[in-house]
Amino acid sequence: MSIKHTLKDKFRDECGVFGIFGHPEAAALTALGLHALQHRGQESCGIVASDSEMFHSHRATGRVGDNFSDARVIEKLPGYSAIGHNRYSTTGPNEERNIQPMFADYAFGGFALAHNGNLTNAVKLRQELMASGSIFNSTSDTETLIHLVALSPYPNVTDKLVDAAKKVVGAYSLVALSRDMLIGMRDPFGVRPLVLGQLDGAWLLASESVAFDIIGANLVRELEPGEMVVIKDNGLESFHPFTTQKQRFCIFEFVYFSRPDSEVEGSSVYNVRKRIGQELAKEAPIEADIVVPVPDSGVPAAIGYAEEASIPFELGIIRNHYVGRTFIEPSDQIRHLGVKLKHNANSGTLKGKRVILVDDSIVRGTTSTKIVEMVRSAGAAEVHMRIASPPTTHSCFYGVDTPERDQLLAARYDTSGMADLIGVDSLSYISIDGLYRACGEQNRNISSPQFCDACFTGQYPITLSDHDEGHTPAQLSLLAENR
Ligand code: SF4
Repeated sequence: MSIKHTLKDKFRDECGVFGIFGHPEAAALTALGLHALQHRGQESCGIVASDSEMFHSHRATGRVGDNFSDARVIEKLPGYSAIGHNRYSTTGPNEERNIQPMFADYAFGGFALAHNGNLTNAVKLRQELMASGSIFNSTSDTETLIHLVALSPYPNVTDKLVDAAKKVVGAYSLVALSRDMLIGMRDPFGVRPLVLGQLDGAWLLASESVAFDIIGANLVRELEPGEMVVIKDNGLESFHPFTTQKQRFCIFEFVYFSRPDSEVEGSSVYNVRKRIGQELAKEAPIEADIVVPVPDSGVPAAIGYAEEASIPFELGIIRNHYVGRTFIEPSDQIRHLGVKLKHNANSGTLKGKRVILVDDSIVRGTTSTKIVEMVRSAGAAEVHMRIASPPTTHSCFYGVDTPERDQLLAARYDTSGMADLIGVDSLSYISIDGLYRACGEQNRNISSPQFCDACFTGQYPITLSDHDEGHTPAQLSLLAENR
């Protein structure tokens, strides 16, 4: 039996992070925060807590609820400070050694690190570090930072971390814990989100504000690109140790990754998604009887489209919420049932109707094809697909699991070719300018865009050193080559 993903046909955010300093229930609150960030990674999770003298760690494969709902697990994580991490990665025999937070014993004491993002020069750095004697325990790019901290000549932890961060290139939102401080750091381009909050006098850090909502904490603000916050018993200090860059926040966080009830970069994700639907309706109108979202991620854009087009919004596809993102497939013969396990057509709504199907994105196109087939089998008279992001023509190298470029449908076909393959009567995507407008930028600056939009435009804001030099992630481990 093998564990396979039902829907590999989406970009997947790889991680969510959480940190808390100065609360007697630090580990329990971290578990709740991670639970709210479960959508950012479902394959493994971990918490490292500090009671000022000792660090305590629990890390395991599986979801937060599977690993941290037992009070006995939380009791083994005492202390007033903790950090946590949810991870998505490709499955494999080396999975366990990559679970975060990572922990290292240094001469200055223990240090735990959790990372959302991806370092684009990790292979090169790793090879250099190994050549000079470093021994790596994982295949994770994050471990590069652990070694760079160890080798830094600076006297204190924060300077060592800054020194290490100045050597890496890529996207990173980090939370780190030493015996007496919690550190949050965002890369100079601010690609991945990281927010600061407060609860009962304790400071918190998290990938998204929903992690604060679940525990009744207040969102204070976003960390700025290139900002480092250092939180100790005597309060919070903010530093800007990097050369200032123009922010390039990941625009896909608005389209798909972040939860709709999160506030991101000062905007409600739900409202942005609704505006995307409204823009899409203006750009790609079509006569139809109903607007149907592909649940759940297509729902807010479909509401926006329906409102703008004055066409009724209907739930023509019902999602089974009791199927996780992974399931056990007994054999290859029934693998094609994957989509039906998760979605079912609501024929009472669809029969005889001209349907506008709204989805957030098309990656390989396999899921879209099956969903369209399902909607037609349920009796839809016409199926028109509208996509709430521009065609995904390029892979992401900044902390998102994406197929190789040659597997992206939009990199191989034009819109009419894709429409034929998916089997729809018409297919339209929102334009890149329309997406920017929905995100609050009336005019996209083409030569220096306000967001990272590389998966739609191929304009990568941060150097892809490893990729450009022909290094592959598999080179992060000799073992990985034998998978
Ligand atoms: Fe986000 Fe840029 Fe990656 Fe696309 S390429 S998913 S916009 S970080």
